[in-house]
Amino acid sequence: MLQMSSRSIQYLKGVGAAKAVQLAKLGIFTVGDLLEYYPRRYEDRSQIKLINQVTDGAVDTVQGSILAVEDIKPRRGLTITKAVLKDASGVANIVWFNQPFIKKKLVLSSKLIVTGKIKRKFGQIEIANPEFETADRSEVINTGRIVPIYSVNEVITQKFLRNLLQQIAVRNEVSAAENLPSDIVVKYELMSRNDALINIHFPESFESLQKARKRLVFEELYIIQCGLGFLKKHNKKIGSGIKHAPDGKLVKAVQAALPFKLTADQAQVLKEIKADMEDLTPMQRLLQGDVGSGKTVIAAIAMAKTVENGYQCAMMAPTEILAEQHYQTIKMLLDAQGVKIAVLTGSLNRSARDKLLDQIRTTQVDIIIGTHALIQEDVQFQNLGLVITDEQHRFGVKQRAKLQDKGVRPDILVMTATPIPRTMALTIYGDLDVSTIRQLPPGRKPIKTFLRGSDKRQKIYEFVVNEVKKGRQAYIVCPLIEDSETIESKSAVELYEQLSVSVFANIRCGLIHGKLRPQEKDEVMAAFYSGHIQILVATTVIEVGVNVPNATIIVIEGADRFGLAQLHQLRGRIGRGEYQSYCILISENKNQDTLERLEIMEKTTDGFRLAEEDLKLRGPGQFFGTRQHGLPDLKIADIIHDIDILLEARQAALDTISRPEMSGLLLKLLKGHFRENFMEMLNS
Ligand code: ADP
Ligand code: MG
Repeated sequence: MLQMSSRSIQYLKGVGAAKAVQLAKLGIFTVGDLLEYYPRRYEDRSQIKLINQVTDGAVDTVQGSILAVEDIKPRRGLTITKAVLKDASGVANIVWFNQPFIKKKLVLSSKLIVTGKIKRKFGQIEIANPEFETADRSEVINTGRIVPIYSVNEVITQKFLRNLLQQIAVRNEVSAAENLPSDIVVKYELMSRNDALINIHFPESFESLQKARKRLVFEELYIIQCGLGFLKKHNKKIGSGIKHAPDGKLVKAVQAALPFKLTADQAQVLKEIKADMEDLTPMQRLLQGDVGSGKTVIAAIAMAKTVENGYQCAMMAPTEILAEQHYQTIKMLLDAQGVKIAVLTGSLNRSARDKLLDQIRTTQVDIIIGTHALIQEDVQFQNLGLVITDEQHRFGVKQRAKLQDKGVRPDILVMTATPIPRTMALTIYGDLDVSTIRQLPPGRKPIKTFLRGSDKRQKIYEFVVNEVKKGRQAYIVCPLIEDSETIESKSAVELYEQLSVSVFANIRCGLIHGKLRPQEKDEVMAAFYSGHIQILVATTVIEVGVNVPNATIIVIEGADRFGLAQLHQLRGRIGRGEYQSYCILISENKNQDTLERLEIMEKTTDGFRLAEEDLKLRGPGQFFGTRQHGLPDLKIADIIHDIDILLEARQAALDTISRPEMSGLLLKLLKGHFRENFMEMLNS
């Protein structure tokens, strides 16, 4: 079966070059791909009803013999094929429209199973365009049973796919080799791989379908957890990292100088981080906390600890604006203690960059904050002790690894502000330990969110003007234009030009978008931070991390174009200070689903709930990023609902990893599923 899996799909009867091209469009190239092309759903056509018991309007399955067949041509261009089907209870008329080839398949007095929508009228029963199958064939696959329904295209039909699958899964009786360790199969009472593959396509019962699904979901998650666990073990190599000393003068001074008291959650995560750092095993930790929960200060203290121990730190952020902002914040916290901090982004000119790289090499700077510019070849550290990445899942495992490779097993801290469901965290960040900040700093007033149509725009602007007159600041966010920063920037320019001479004529407005030069962006942001700019018209470049506590209003135009997680990030720009803040979502979209989605924003400010809703609505593809992480795609597991199976699979994976004699089998399993970029890391 293993060799069988890698065979071209053209090996199967009925697949020529043309069909192969169409199958390729569905991602099916080999027999193995086909076997793992799981049904989208199932229809229960197993309950065969008597003809006189069918229900008007329902989809029912009946079985009988063919009494009569005829083609009728009531007018030009219309052919109706009509068959009369009889069972012990009565007769039904089966009709097909414009499918003249059907007649040839209907042999008088042969047995037929038919599934379709029932129409009862004038005492007659009619079933139009049903699925049907000759009943006396030995393997019934299209009806009369639980039938798989696949995602198909115009050329590849349900029947065609079922036929192919029947060739490999049923008729040839080929067996798919077991790929999980036998003790795991026994311990978790898993169906064998072969039975699971047959039953996932042609289940004998709903019970066997459920067992088959569980087995395949388990397998998928187990393999991922094995990979991540193996990577974690590989990275940890007990005893080989940097052992930071207990807190000394610098850390104590930084903490004493904080303008606020750490929240209980902050204190707890800091304790976890310090414990990791003081251990010889390299830290591999994820710090998660909603926007504004105060992660940056934790990062700053961790950096102080590294500097105090004579090492350098690197902190990587996804955007220049954010890198710049982190730089300012960290500087404020550490500058007074004599720590040398620098920022490295793509916008430094050649000579400034050369000079900085030299300073980094010779340890004249302790902390470097930057964008992915940090991972370039020529950025070399003398003694990198701590690597922090602040990400919105934007960096893959590989990019993180590149930065950490600039040191010798430095401690790693990954920060994320996008709360993600536990299943997903265990998957994307399965190679990390997790610390969570759940509470926001005290005294924050919950943001008030309103969803409004564009007819209210004038009123909204007046409200903005009022708040600004009270001394507050505001963001006006332009609609998201997917894939075109140019068009998006242009629309921001237009909105700015329009607003700054009309409703906001007497207010100091600013404009920021992706097409500005870095220097210009810096100037605009500096003016907004200082309060000189009162209203900032912006694209999503402000999405991440920007922190201006005096900004209390965010108006988001075309809100329906954003995902919930993204709206939550944008909303996180306000409510960062002592004032009541307002988020106003403007949308002209009247689609019921869209409105419901946006109304969730009005109801909750809980980022975790929003992320989960977003995931349910848009599917995991949007922010799962399996590819960039080098992980296998999920073909059957449901990242939200399969948490129980995930926990089992994770435990099983941990068991396997802990047994050295399993490592040969394990590596083979990983090689067959993980992408190259992931496997490379295991070899580094
Ligand atoms: P995050 O990075 O998690 O989004 P920040 O670190 O930017 O959050 O913190 C948001 C704001 O809250 C900052 O202005 C910060 O100074 C402030 N802050 C952080 N911790 C506390 C605290 N314990 N008490 C009061 N304010 C805090
Ligand atoms: Mg932050």
